[in-house]
Amino acid sequence: MIFPMNTKSLLPLFLLAASLACAAEKIVAGPRGGRLLDTAPLKAEFLVTKDRRVEVTFYDGALKPVTPGTQVVAITAEPKSGRLPVEVTKTTHGFASKVALPAATEPYRVVVQIREKPDARPQNFRIDLNLEICGECKHAEYACTCAH
Ligand SMILES: [Zn+2]
Repeated sequence: MIFPMNTKSLLPLFLLAASLACAAEKIVAGPRGGRLLDTAPLKAEFLVTKDRRVEVTFYDGALKPVTPGTQVVAITAEPKSGRLPVEVTKTTHGFASKVALPAATEPYRVVVQIREKPDARPQNFRIDLNLEICGECKHAEYACTCAH
């Protein structure tokens, strides 16, 4: 990161914010190169395919893909043009969206809500959808595991 001279006094705040963000979300990559979400009892991997569809894959503790049972997944895209629910359907090992995520010129927030069963408390994951490939770990930035 580059800080122009006149914002130097803000640097400690930047660093504080950055360290808090890192502590809040330590990204772990899933077996398919997406972002592993810390759900229980099954782990879930959030992956955006080349055609911008979302795939959520469930794994057991040994990261073997499993067929979800009662799990419910809801995805909301939040581009600047407005929030948009992304419809997902059940697949062999999870859920997938039928349509592509909305195109946008800048990264936007995607909220993934996973429930163990329909009446369970949801676990929410807020992912900044940055599809640029990281030069270091070769994952898309939303699944980048580097300690930036
Ligand atoms: Zn990286």
